[in-house]
Amino acid sequence: MQLAKRFSETKPSGMVRVFQAIEKMQGVLNLSIGEPDFVTEPDIVDAGAAGAKEGFTHYPPLQGFLETREAACAYWERHHGFKASPDEVYISVGGLHVPWLAFEALLNPGDEILLIEPYFTCYDAQIRNTGGVPVYIKTREENNFAPTIEDLRAACSSKTRGIILNYPGNPTGRVATLKQLEEIAEFVLEKDLFVLSDEIYESMNFTGNKHVCFANIPGMKERTLLASGVSKSHCMTGWRIGYVFAPQNVINVMCQLSSFQTYGVNTLSQKAAAYAMNTQDEKVKARAKIFGERMHEVQSRLNNMKGVKCHPAQGAFYLFPDISGTGLSSEEFTWQLLNEAKVAVLPGSAFGQTGEGYLRIACTQSIETLIESMNRMEEFCRRF
Ligand code: PMP
Repeated sequence: MQLAKRFSETKPSGMVRVFQAIEKMQGVLNLSIGEPDFVTEPDIVDAGAAGAKEGFTHYPPLQGFLETREAACAYWERHHGFKASPDEVYISVGGLHVPWLAFEALLNPGDEILLIEPYFTCYDAQIRNTGGVPVYIKTREENNFAPTIEDLRAACSSKTRGIILNYPGNPTGRVATLKQLEEIAEFVLEKDLFVLSDEIYESMNFTGNKHVCFANIPGMKERTLLASGVSKSHCMTGWRIGYVFAPQNVINVMCQLSSFQTYGVNTLSQKAAAYAMNTQDEKVKARAKIFGERMHEVQSRLNNMKGVKCHPAQGAFYLFPDISGTGLSSEEFTWQLLNEAKVAVLPGSAFGQTGEGYLRIACTQSIETLIESMNRMEEFCRRF
């Protein structure tokens, strides 16, 4: 069948190729997938089931249940001092749906979005599929993979409409400082841009500083779409609940899109997410501590391997070691490690050109699995 032109040339991404290869292999230690190994807490599951028994089996409101939107507001006010009304929240199909809805609502054909490398790959596809044009911003590890304002300025044209921020970030696990974010905020004002700030890893910040909610920077709330969700913080990837705080006119378009696309989001998942956001603060904190400890262990092991250098963990559950000292490219390292040592990681190059020479390691397995993976990887690196 004749596909639309925009799909006729698509091939699986560097990420998907690894995922597909693992499916066909036995005995692989999988550090490639960005989802917590913990299952959803049983009381959250009960809250979803109770919703079904109470009769929440009908279409939901397009914007999401008021209860779920209120829970998102309360969570962000409690944790980050961010204040919003439930009218400014839209409940989405996972955090992943938010950028797509945002670009659909905000972009005209040919509008440009500044995309900071290395980036979460889905943004790139979403910008393109909604008629936008990604403009890649190279970064350097010395600057913590944050963009310089000069580079951002140089990338702007009359078509630049917005910028995507993602801290703590996937794939680098880096956290921008308040100063860096304030400088970006000034640039955003100067160029009159909107900001999609994906803060889905807000609960996992190991820098010792508090998470900076970009929309809290003066003048930013009205320009920012703050995206998050319960997938990572509450180990609820399968429930598919995300949300966005955005100006009212944007939320209205999202509801309109929902009216002819998804017609709202699964009612029981919304019930479970509302309960989760209201009741699990201690568990969220305890799990973040576990991720931090795992990352610390893996980082110190990586730094003892030949040709590998790894910066301390800052946030999310990803490490992004520099493997350029081995002489292999990211892809070569990834595939040789997978085929020879049966350890799956992702090539940094799957996240934009800046990622070449790096790997993404997700510390989303038990400490025993992580240690065994590091044993295998250390052995693999002896040859360099
Ligand atoms: N944003 C980022 C930066 C992510 O890493 C992910 C998941 N890997 C998402 C959004 C999507 O999360 P969800 O599972 O809630 O759709």
